[in-house]
Amino acid sequence: MSDIERVIIVGSGPAAHTAAIYAGRAELKPLLFEGFMAGGVAAGGQLTTTTDVENYPGFPDGIGGPELMDRMRAQSLKCGARILTETVDRVDLTARPFVVVTASGEYRAEALIVATGATAKRLDLPGEQELWQRGISACAVCDGGLPMFRQKPLVVIGGGDTACEEASYLSKFGSKVTMLVRRDVLRASAAMQKRVTENPKIEILWNTEAMQAIGDTALTGVRVRNNTTGDGRVLEAGGLFYAIGHTPNTDFLGGSLTVDDTGYVVTEPDSTRTNIRGVFACGDVKDRVYRQAVTAAGSGCMAALEAEHFLVDLGGAE
Ligand code: FAD
Ligand code: NDP
Repeated sequence: MSDIERVIIVGSGPAAHTAAIYAGRAELKPLLFEGFMAGGVAAGGQLTTTTDVENYPGFPDGIGGPELMDRMRAQSLKCGARILTETVDRVDLTARPFVVVTASGEYRAEALIVATGATAKRLDLPGEQELWQRGISACAVCDGGLPMFRQKPLVVIGGGDTACEEASYLSKFGSKVTMLVRRDVLRASAAMQKRVTENPKIEILWNTEAMQAIGDTALTGVRVRNNTTGDGRVLEAGGLFYAIGHTPNTDFLGGSLTVDDTGYVVTEPDSTRTNIRGVFACGDVKDRVYRQAVTAAGSGCMAALEAEHFLVDLGGAE
């Protein structure tokens, strides 16, 4: 078993690296587990799966997602973080020091920062894999403003708040937005429902499911089917946006932290503190609303500062 670390960070997206930068500068010598294809995503997190990031401050001409994450990783190292390319399989948070278990062994820490993000759900449609990021996206706020979607007919799948928000957002760019809703009701809140039903650029196709993404080098259409009549047709589409929910990456926690009814780690208001003292959660794993790189980074900063305060208090108490 290793020495007791002051703080271990699990994750490798903007939240984890911002936490590592702050914890490193606070001389906590953070140990960061970046994962090895954890949840099917490369170390670096969700931004490694996208092309241009145009809304992260400091890059007026945009920056490639993988390059942005490479830079964050380099900054973590420069600030004193140690990074292991291993996935955390499980943790024991029943007592301090907390125990973190990977394939290479057990590690112990006084404080733990959970920054493992969330994974957008996909449908595995025929054509989806080939056209992913070539017209298909799981984040309208991230990608919707790209030139490839301007004045094109766009399709959103889902009937929740995210789908309504994304359809409204996309209506500013696309020529028309069609929402595919698998039931005859929206799951979204009344306010969000009003927003889409009153928007003349948004059409809702009820009881309708996507069956296939069509296109050679870029998406050109979506084959849909009405699940009550069985009727099928092809919608012309320059963009297809999935808004069918996210799965926070929390399996390795084994239920030790309190999560909400959609699986996100619960933290105290205006804080990254979880139900276990000394364990902090930041980024998409605890954020079901904003889910942006900059908000993840911001909460990573909060987690590191709160972990530092916790460790200072601990020192005083012992
Ligand atoms: P993530 O980026 O989700 O990273 C967490 C990572 O931790 C995981 O991916 C994995 O590598 C690692 N991990 C998971 N479990 C473990 C484990 N058990 N052990 C070790 N490591 C583990 N946001 C923007 O602001 N602008 C954009 O343009 C933008 N574009 C996007 C495009 C796409 C296609 C997607 C999917 C998202 C996009 N986002 C964008 C959203 C943004 O990527 C996320 O909000 C942000 O990455 C969340 O950061 P995070 O640090 O919480 O975690
Ligand atoms: P939700 O789980 O609320 O909604 C997912 C939607 O996708 C549902 O309409 C669901 O249909 C549909 N869906 C799920 N799987 C499939 C599938 N395989 N095929 C077709 N459709 C599918 O997720 P959201 O991301 O919308 O919201 C998550 C949470 O975040 C919610 O609590 C929401 O209120 C909150 N949120 C709040 C916002 C705000 O307040 N502005 C903005 C965004 C999110 P069905 O209804 O049939 O299950």
